[in-house]
Amino acid sequence: MRIILLGPPGAGKGTLAGLIKEKSGVVHVSTGDMLREEMKSGSGLGQEVKNFVESGGLVPDEVITKILENRLTRKDEVAKGYMLDGFPRTQPQAEVLDAILEKINQPIDFAFYMEASLPVIIQRLTGRRICRQCGAIFHMTNMPPKEEGKCDECGGEIYQRADDAEETIRKRMDVYLASTTPVIDYYEKQGKLKKVNADKGTEELLNFLLKALDEYNESNQDKISTRD
Ligand code: ADP
Ligand code: ZN
Repeated sequence: MRIILLGPPGAGKGTLAGLIKEKSGVVHVSTGDMLREEMKSGSGLGQEVKNFVESGGLVPDEVITKILENRLTRKDEVAKGYMLDGFPRTQPQAEVLDAILEKINQPIDFAFYMEASLPVIIQRLTGRRICRQCGAIFHMTNMPPKEEGKCDECGGEIYQRADDAEETIRKRMDVYLASTTPVIDYYEKQGKLKKVNADKGTEELLNFLLKALDEYNESNQDKISTRD
């Protein structure tokens, strides 16, 4: 099962992917997480991308595409499928992704488009906090940690992403509208887009996606049996 999660920052892609992973074991591949790991480790690559990420701009296509290709072609890790979060973010990235997946004969099954409104996005992102150690996501009012400043999962320190400042959120939204909207059309044209209103609660989104996965599996079963 290979799924792309599409939608503006704050739509809840990472939160949803975390829940699905818990339920089904499908791997969460987040380019944002991968970049933050590089920045944390202080690697050359991390230094190269830091300014782009913290200002809310995009890392150049060639850089991010290389990172992603390395990850998706490491077979063992992604053999059972994955949810791709944060990539593709531009049409050229979508084209490169198709080319990579065609080479290994593993096309995307569908793209799940989570549409959210601006006030909801701002509320979610300004309140968002992350565990520095394990990456768990919290929210100051919607989902606060049991103990202030401490992760429920691992006890790690909770922090606010530099790009979750309100100014930077607006910039990320502008970048999203300009660069990522074409990606939505791209999958729509391929007949692979499933759209959902992401202003809804997480539980409802989770059920919707699990149902879509079931339907997908069933219709694939049909295809296999009619071939016999
Ligand atoms: P968001 O909450 O905006 O979805 P992410 O964690 O996915 O945040 O990404 C954070 C930042 O990392 C982006 O604003 C961008 O700078 C960089 N980034 C992540 N994925 C990509 C990508 N596919 N192409 C370019 N830049 C990316
Ligand atoms: Zn943690």
